[in-house]
Amino acid sequence: MQKMIDIIGVQMDLGALKRGVSMGPLAIRHADLCEKLSDMGLLWRDKGDIIPVSNGASTKQLKNYEQIAEANGRLYDEVCESLEKGAFPVVLGGDHSVAAGSVPAVANAYRNAGLIWIDAHGDFNDDHSTSSGNMHGMPFSVVCGCGPDKMAPYANSFIDPKHAVLVGARDIDVPESRRLKEAGVTVFTIHDIDRMGMPLVMREAIEIATAGGGGIYVSFDMDAVTPEAAPGVGTPVHSGLTVREAFLAMEMLYQCGKALAIDMVEVNPILDGRNRT
Ligand code: MG
Ligand code: MG
Repeated sequence: MQKMIDIIGVQMDLGALKRGVSMGPLAIRHADLCEKLSDMGLLWRDKGDIIPVSNGASTKQLKNYEQIAEANGRLYDEVCESLEKGAFPVVLGGDHSVAAGSVPAVANAYRNAGLIWIDAHGDFNDDHSTSSGNMHGMPFSVVCGCGPDKMAPYANSFIDPKHAVLVGARDIDVPESRRLKEAGVTVFTIHDIDRMGMPLVMREAIEIATAGGGGIYVSFDMDAVTPEAAPGVGTPVHSGLTVREAFLAMEMLYQCGKALAIDMVEVNPILDGRNRT
């Protein structure tokens, strides 16, 4: 039976330095996401958007943590509900902090799930290692059970870092690099992609993510793609994935038949040109 695709938007930009990614779900829908799914003969249901509350506690090291955790708690429930119904959740960000809501829901439903995190950045800081306090730089660490716990107080299941893979990285902080290594996350930098080619990198990434016998959560930060092709992102880093490399990665994830859910995040329409990204 064909799986229902559940689309869940999160109008979140409290985890980022620059505002505007909160309009990402609108921009992605405006690029005919639902029409394209219909054209492909796929079933979909649009569950609408989660909107963060307007006030909450915040610290220098964890900016807006209370609002982010509250909205992510609602996202967690939505993703759990979709998984219970046998649907395939597609989460539209919003900044990448939303993954701290979506990924633990999948880890809870599938205890042996792996994770492929496609991103220019590491997103593996915590409240001690961060230099900015921006929480979109922390969700990968959170969903691997490495904190900060305040970001996902509802979460009780995490991804085993041995089955977590970062693909496309080219801007990782020094303490973050150390934390990734200590946790045991596999990292394929843009240099590795240059040398090995995307097909081999993705084959290895899929192998590592599924080595525990489970499926794969895919968390796709649009800034993984080179800003010449995808300028509408909050934190662009030059010399990224080509459009074909990004498509190939997604095609291989589809073909492996192991994907459980996906985030598509960090689209910032304010910084885009004619909704190109
Ligand atoms: Mg990210
Ligand atoms: Mg990023």
